[in-house]
Amino acid sequence: MCLILPGQVVRMNEIPHFIAGARVAGDGTRFGEVFNPATGRCTARVSFAGRAEAGLAVAAAAKAFPEWSRTSPLNRARVMFRFKTLIERDAEALAALITSEHGKVLGDARGEVARGLEVVEFACGIPHLLKGEFSESVGTGIDSWSMRQPLGVCVGITPFNFPAMVPMWMFPIAIACGNTFVLKPSERDPSAAVRIAELLKEAGLPDGVFNVVHGDKAAVDALLAHPDVAAVSFVGSTPIAGYIYATAAANGKRVQALGGAKNHLVVMPDADLDQAADALIGAAYGSAGERCMAISVAVAVGSAADPLVDRLASRVRNLRIGPGTAPGVEMGPLVTRQHLERVRGYVDTGVEEGAKLVVDGRGFRGEGCEGGFFIGGCLFDHVTTDMKIYREEIFGPVLSVVRTPSLAAATQMVSEHEFGNGASIFTNNGQAAREFAGRVQAGMVGVNVPIPVPMAFHSFGGWKHSIFGDHAMHGMEGVRFYTRLKTITARWPGGKGFGAEFTMPTMR
Ligand code: NAD
Repeated sequence: MCLILPGQVVRMNEIPHFIAGARVAGDGTRFGEVFNPATGRCTARVSFAGRAEAGLAVAAAAKAFPEWSRTSPLNRARVMFRFKTLIERDAEALAALITSEHGKVLGDARGEVARGLEVVEFACGIPHLLKGEFSESVGTGIDSWSMRQPLGVCVGITPFNFPAMVPMWMFPIAIACGNTFVLKPSERDPSAAVRIAELLKEAGLPDGVFNVVHGDKAAVDALLAHPDVAAVSFVGSTPIAGYIYATAAANGKRVQALGGAKNHLVVMPDADLDQAADALIGAAYGSAGERCMAISVAVAVGSAADPLVDRLASRVRNLRIGPGTAPGVEMGPLVTRQHLERVRGYVDTGVEEGAKLVVDGRGFRGEGCEGGFFIGGCLFDHVTTDMKIYREEIFGPVLSVVRTPSLAAATQMVSEHEFGNGASIFTNNGQAAREFAGRVQAGMVGVNVPIPVPMAFHSFGGWKHSIFGDHAMHGMEGVRFYTRLKTITARWPGGKGFGAEFTMPTMR
């Protein structure tokens, strides 16, 4: 709840939609509250779209589509080049905006902007990426070629944990391919999306090509049901990803829906345990564990377990926790009070289930953290695969250590988990690494790299319940998702007619 003290005059910052090149206020009926997670204070309210506003955004995108799709790829790329320079100009302000609503530390927010920018840079190469294939003389006097054409209005529905980067996995490629776009960002940290829309306009993007509508399920459902939406990209939790996939597909849309994760890092006894412990600390507690590629399970193989847990425990106790804007801080707060309670609940459950809570962050008190949504780092040992804290995604600064006797058992454990986003191995044995990378059932694999997030020119996507649909995000997978293939077969008559053909044409 937003608290307004008696006698206090508060002009509440209201975060608008962005439709057809302009900020658009909501209809005043439904709002969400946006908090600064470091202080716990409500800083703004965000208009929630219903069917009418979602319809306005889709109409603006549909109106802009014919001209934008006919704009040459080179000119579309030039807009992306200008957008890239504007993101670079405003990177610091964007990072500050992210930290103020998400809570992650400033350095991490800067990293988020930089990783999103990579996709913009990739999209700048769209004239090359859209080149089709050509075959001369597939038959006598007949040539054939294929080309990729845009789909129409594409929708992006994105999670709270990367308010700039995840949208940037989607729209730069969608737009560069000639589509128009409606973004429905997370209602918990919606400001970055509006700022991005303004920067796209400043870069020369025609009005209506990129639109933002805020909201909850009502806004999402209106977009999923809209007959003028051609494709839907989603990133978020697995239950919602499953819902989006089924609903959008039933409504005839092309859809890619990336879900939740439980990423394992296998530590072999021959690994450098100091390096492995450092890697685990960054990957488990960075961004307070609110990353889909965070490591939440350390699989300690054989004799690695005891020395690894010792190293982890001292590091977790010494984590520097505080507001994301404070210098030297390594971990900020969680995004909302509800999420804080949920994460605390998981830690309680782990204790009840019999896991050993080596470091308990539930009682964390830090100077300047009083009102914020903070929890200290938590470390469990002797976690087993039947426990809820092992099976479910916690999405907080909670690392579980599972002990296992061999690489084969570790690989099987990772592979049998419901989620298959990322998995990593730390070892000095090339054969063990090769075996693991080849066999493990996960979409992104790290070898002595804890968070193997692919670069923009590769593609990001998990396996199993971490994805619904056939296409991963960005890279050539993005270009394929946001275009459809057309293949043309042509011959030019040399003065005489072809005559009727009644049999299946065979090329001679
Ligand atoms: P979420 O699923 O709660 O929300 C994601 C989006 O869906 C938001 O825009 C939200 O408004 C909308 N939404 C929420 N409930 C809905 C409903 N009932 N019907 C329709 N739309 C609804 O996810 P979140 O809490 O914002 O983000 C965290 C989750 O996202 C984690 O599970 C994390 O693993 C996942 N994630 C996955 C990836 C990936 O690439 N696989 C990347 C980032 C985050």
